[in-house]
Amino acid sequence: MYRLLILLTILFCNVVQAQTVFHKKLKLMGSRFDLYVVTQDSASADVWFNMAIDETRRIEKVISSWDPNSETSLINKNAGIKPVKVSRELFNLIKRSLVISKLTDGAFDITYASMDRIWKFDGSMTEFPPPEAIKQSVSKVGYKNIILNEKKGTVYLTKKGMKIGFGAIGKGYAADMAKKMLMSKGVKAGIINASGDMNTWGKKPDGKPWTVAITNPFNKNKAFAVLPLTDEAVVTSGNYEKYVMFNGKRYSHIIDPRTGYPASGITSATVFAPSAELADALATSIFVMGTEVGIDRINQLPKVECIIIDDSGEIHTSKNIDINNTGK
Ligand code: ADP
Ligand code: MG
Repeated sequence: MYRLLILLTILFCNVVQAQTVFHKKLKLMGSRFDLYVVTQDSASADVWFNMAIDETRRIEKVISSWDPNSETSLINKNAGIKPVKVSRELFNLIKRSLVISKLTDGAFDITYASMDRIWKFDGSMTEFPPPEAIKQSVSKVGYKNIILNEKKGTVYLTKKGMKIGFGAIGKGYAADMAKKMLMSKGVKAGIINASGDMNTWGKKPDGKPWTVAITNPFNKNKAFAVLPLTDEAVVTSGNYEKYVMFNGKRYSHIIDPRTGYPASGITSATVFAPSAELADALATSIFVMGTEVGIDRINQLPKVECIIIDDSGEIHTSKNIDINNTGK
């Protein structure tokens, strides 16, 4: 009887302290976010969710190009006029964006944003933009025309009409920051998934690692690889959600900043990296660089891997990915 009581007590304690994965789905930064935390009860999960949400909203206020009062809009409004003093946070994000531009020979470029007057991927485009208009818009693009003054903390876009935008890196950055915030508050494990830009930490309650299922857009129902994630980020960029079709050809919402034309040839790019910010920016860059150059660049970066599916459904991977083994 005594033994039974001890056993029951142990079982009861285990039930009370059982760690569960709590999930919250919501819209942030204009996209679907899925937040997961491992904890004992829904009340504490809600506290963590709210912290992650507040952090994401804070970041959106800094980097949004839609919000006329954001620091980013202030930089854009003063293009060709004067340098603008910004927060260290934004200054450093721009600085890191420039590093990725150099790394990708300009395939990634936050000044792509002045081309968004030409290309619309919301279904409103009925014909291909005239070549002169494309040429004109590309003349405002070029990361080398962003001048940072480290001492003064200012950002200056040298050409009138130039614009920066964080569409290809912002959600990744937000996922990283929300993760950092929750980790600092003591949350042992979780996932921040910003519409396919996700960062993870810790393990599932059963002690196993988080996993990500990679699907081929040509056969969405079946994952062809399930890969483990250990305190790392994974991001997928695809051209199957936002795109335009002209003459039977699919053009993605990712634009080659050097030509002004949308990238084509790749259907999806998945990048694994220590941060979602880097993975996000690189996934976008791969679309512009193409399969061969993309894989070559990824193979030169430590702790970064990728899986590319091209327009004909063929799968290409960087050197340390073994999709058949479902281990990286
Ligand atoms: P998603 O939001 O679908 O995950 P991505 O992370 O691939 O998309 O980023 C695509 C977005 O990045 C585009 O909608 C646009 O705002 C911006 N963008 C497009 N081309 C470039 C580029 N060459 N460099 C940087 N940003 C880009
Ligand atoms: Mg991206």
